[in-house]
Amino acid sequence: MNCPKCPNQTLVSREVRGIQVDQCDRCGGIWCDPTELSKLLALADGEARRVAGGRADPAVNARAGKCPRDGKQMIRVASARKREVIIETCPDCRGVWLDGGELKELLRA
Ligand SMILES: [Zn+2]
Ligand SMILES: [Zn+2]
Repeated sequence: MNCPKCPNQTLVSREVRGIQVDQCDRCGGIWCDPTELSKLLALADGEARRVAGGRADPAVNARAGKCPRDGKQMIRVASARKREVIIETCPDCRGVWLDGGELKELLRA
C-alpha cells in the first residue's frame, strides 16, 4: 500500500503489542482499522508512541488523501477522542488515516 499523502512512498507494516498498523516513514502517518486505533489509544503511552512519529504539517493535513487500500477518496472527520484533531476515514473499507503527529496528539487527549 502507498502513503495517501507522499508520492511513491510505500507504507511499512508495524506491530505494537499485536496491533497491526501501516506507517509511512516519510511523513510518519499511520493507516489502521478503527478497532486497531482504539486498541492503540488504550495502550500505555510509551508503547503507542513507537508508531506516533512525525510532526503535524498543516499543508499535508489539509490535502485530502485517497484510501491506500482501495483508492476511494477519504473523508475528513473530527476525532471522537479530541475534536480538534481531524483524521481521515475511508467511506468504503472504514480504514483510518492519521497524519504525522496526530496519534501523538490523540494520546495526549
Ligand atoms: Zn507519507
Ligand atoms: Zn478504503
